[in-house]
Amino acid sequence: MKLANGSTVAIVGGGPGGTLSAIFLLDLARQLRLQLSIDIYEPKRYNCTGPTGCNMCGGVISESLIQMLAAEGILLPNSVVIDTINAYILHTDQESARIDAPRQEMRIATIFRGAGPKGSEHQLPLPWQSFDQFLLQMAIANGARHLPYAVTELSREQGFPVVSCANQPPQRYDLLVGAVGINQKKSLQLFEALDFAYQRPQTTRAYVAELYYGAEQVQQHLGHAMHVFLLNIPHLKFAAITPKGHYATLVILGDHIDQEVIEQFFAAPEVKKCLPQGWEIPVQPCHCQPSIVVGPASNPFGDRVVMVGDASVSRLYKDGIGSAYRMAKRLAYTALAHGVAASDFKKHYWPVCRSLLWDNRLGHLLFACDNLFRFFPLLRQAMMAVLRRERCQAEGNACPLSSAFWNTFTGSATYMHIAGELLQWKTLWNLLSLLRPGRNSHH
Ligand SMILES: Cc1cc2nc3c(=O)[nH]c(=O)nc-3n(C[C@H](O)[C@H](O)[C@H](O)COP(=O)(O)OP(=O)(O)OC[C@H]3O[C@@H](n4cnc5c(N)ncnc54)[C@H](O)[C@@H]3O)c2cc1C
Repeated sequence: MKLANGSTVAIVGGGPGGTLSAIFLLDLARQLRLQLSIDIYEPKRYNCTGPTGCNMCGGVISESLIQMLAAEGILLPNSVVIDTINAYILHTDQESARIDAPRQEMRIATIFRGAGPKGSEHQLPLPWQSFDQFLLQMAIANGARHLPYAVTELSREQGFPVVSCANQPPQRYDLLVGAVGINQKKSLQLFEALDFAYQRPQTTRAYVAELYYGAEQVQQHLGHAMHVFLLNIPHLKFAAITPKGHYATLVILGDHIDQEVIEQFFAAPEVKKCLPQGWEIPVQPCHCQPSIVVGPASNPFGDRVVMVGDASVSRLYKDGIGSAYRMAKRLAYTALAHGVAASDFKKHYWPVCRSLLWDNRLGHLLFACDNLFRFFPLLRQAMMAVLRRERCQAEGNACPLSSAFWNTFTGSATYMHIAGELLQWKTLWNLLSLLRPGRNSHH
């Protein structure tokens, strides 16, 4: 089962998983002197503000991903990168600690997935461009065809996948790529009902809101830093406010994020410090409650069909776009260099999903340890003292705890790498030596 000259590919979903798959398939096909015909089915209008054009995310991408994309010839223009971040500020109920980018070049970028938050259309012409739109245009420039329809039915005809949309004739393809993300349950059902025993990934709910501060207030209260909050609020696992031009993006992760948790969050004194004075929660900010992947899908491939991006597996709580990049690249290589049978995907595509999956298991463990810091004030104080100490001694010295935090927040490194940093004797020794009461007071 191989793709040949003139083979056809349907990609259902034009988020990063889908568009990057198209770009890599077309690039590799060109190198192999093969002509592929790729259709991307995507009904979303990325040039619209608010939910119509948005794929609901925090919009943070690590410098390592920007560099990997650049190496592929995907150069993010300034209009897509809204802000760059060069530090994290970790806030606890007792104090705050700043964690700078380990090296100057390791900054991160913030983007909008759609044309911008609901209401930003009043600022026309918009000074930024949608990240997803940029990738979709790049796929089209590379030779893909964009079909602005939602896929409503999937079936097989003599073993070949057939894609149907309302009011369109069904189309038969040599390969079907499922890049539908995890927010549209009906789309996942279509793939589950096909014949390859696919089961959607496990998910939990998150909360994202775009808060309008105005550029000056963003600079004054957030600077070029992402503000992360380690708060002891029930159900809240992670909360961060990220500067994005005139806006600040709030992301809250945790189980059962409801109005009460959100109000408790805004009422916390350490959060108030990051809000403009007199600022009140807007009655209806541009907000959403998307699903986020916490466990992998089962059987994400079959003969002539493969799932990519969130619909397959994603890095736990971070770098979902980076995971989609890695999977898309391997998918293209597998399909063109080896074939599109389930056995080809199992041998050549599955290892990249499996390595994410194993790393996520370690990620779950690390996040469980994070709860220790949340619930035990003494441990929290010791951690903040180590971060302070590392910052004072940063010049030419290793800062394993700061680096572990940086990598956790940015998604620049695997959980395995982060665990290695946390388990260094220097980190453990620093933490233990500061655990005795009275030792971790401010210097
Ligand atoms: C709260 C939150 C914060 C996040 N923050 C970050 C972050 O800061 N950085 C990061 O890297 N990742 C982040 N992520 C993860 C990131 O959003 C995802 O990993 C990424 O969007 C996955 O890309 P995808 O292409 O697989 O899916 P998606 O981006 O969800 O795209 C799926 C596409 O498929 C289309 N589609 C669905 N059904 C159909 C159909 N039937 N027919 C046609 N098209 C269809 C949809 O319209 C959509 O455009 C975050 C996620 C959440 C929930």
